[in-house]
Amino acid sequence: NACHIAFIGLGHMGGPMAANLLKAGHTLTAFDLVPAAVEAAVALGAKAAPNALHAVTEADVVITMLPASQHVEALYLGEGRLIHAVKPGALVLECSTISPEVARAVHAAAKTRGVAMLDAPVSGGTAGATAGTLTFIIGGEAANLERARPLLEAMGKNLFHAGSAGAGQVAKIANNMLLAIHMIGTAEALNLGVANGLDPKVLSDIMRVSSGGNWSLEKYNPWPGVMENTPASRGYEGGFGVDLMLKDLGLAMEAALASKSSTPLGSLSRQLYALHSSLGHGGQDFSSIQQLLKRS
Ligand code: NAD
Repeated sequence: NACHIAFIGLGHMGGPMAANLLKAGHTLTAFDLVPAAVEAAVALGAKAAPNALHAVTEADVVITMLPASQHVEALYLGEGRLIHAVKPGALVLECSTISPEVARAVHAAAKTRGVAMLDAPVSGGTAGATAGTLTFIIGGEAANLERARPLLEAMGKNLFHAGSAGAGQVAKIANNMLLAIHMIGTAEALNLGVANGLDPKVLSDIMRVSSGGNWSLEKYNPWPGVMENTPASRGYEGGFGVDLMLKDLGLAMEAALASKSSTPLGSLSRQLYALHSSLGHGGQDFSSIQQLLKRS
C-alpha cells in the first residue's frame, strides 16, 4: 500500500531513510532548510516542497528527522504550528532524538487534532539508515505502531515498542549514554595498549572476542585504519556528530536530574564530549574522542 509521505529533515540520516521509502514505492514530498538535501531526494524521485507547510498538507504520513528538541518544538508547536496543518487522521512519525517532554508535547497537540503520532528515534547510524536496517525505538499507542509498521520496515529491521508517549526517547537516551561510555572506554583501552607497544588491530581483535567486547569495537572501531568503512578510517567524517552525542548526553543528564538518578559515567562522558567539542571537533564523528586521548 503506497503512502503519500511528507519527509522533513533530509540530513545524514533522513536522506538515506527517504531514499529507502522511495525505493519501496511510496510517494514522497521532501523539505529541508538546505536546498542541496532536497535536490538529492528529488534526484531519487521525491517531489520538492517550498516549505514544511506545503509538504504536509496532503500527506497521509509525516516523518521528521531533525537535529534536536528545539527544532522539533519550533516546527510542530512554534509560530507556524505545523501540527495544525497536518490532516486529521494522518500519522506523524517523529524520528529525531529529542527530550521526552518535547515528544510528549507534540503527542498531546497531535491528539487534539485527531492526528496519530509515534516518537520513533532510531539506532544504527548512517550505515543502518542507508542499508535500511535501522532499529526503531517507539513510544505511543500500539495500534499506531501497527499502522506504521510497513513504513518502518522499509527503513529498518528491528522495531521495539518501548511504551507510551515519550518512552521511545527515554530508551534512546539511555542507550546513547551507554554508547558514549563504551566508546570512550574503548578509545581509552586502545590508547593504553598502543602507548605500551601493541598494534591497535591486534589489540582490537583480542578485546572484541574477550570480555571487553562491545559494539564500538565490533562495528565502529575509533582507531584509524583498524576497520574499513568506519568514520575513523576516513578522517572522522560523516557518521554521528560529536555535537549530536553531546546533545544526547545533555538529554540523559536532564532525565537523570528529573528522576534523581545517579549517572556518574554519563556525567563524565558529557564533560569529555563537551571538552572535545570545545577544542573544535563538534562536527566530527563521535568516535574522534580517540584523538582527545591519544598521545601525539
Ligand atoms: P543532520 O544535521 O545531518 O540532519 C538534520 C537535517 O535537518 C539537516 O539537513 C537540517 O538542514 C534539517 N533541518 C533542521 N531544521 C529544519 C527545519 N526547521 N525544517 C527542515 N529541515 C530542517 O542530523 P542527522 O545526523 O541526520 O541526525 C538527525 C537526528 O537523528 C538527530 O536527532 C540525531 O541525534 C539522530 N540520530 C543520528 C544518528 C547518526 O548516526 N547521525 C544516529 C541515530 C540518531
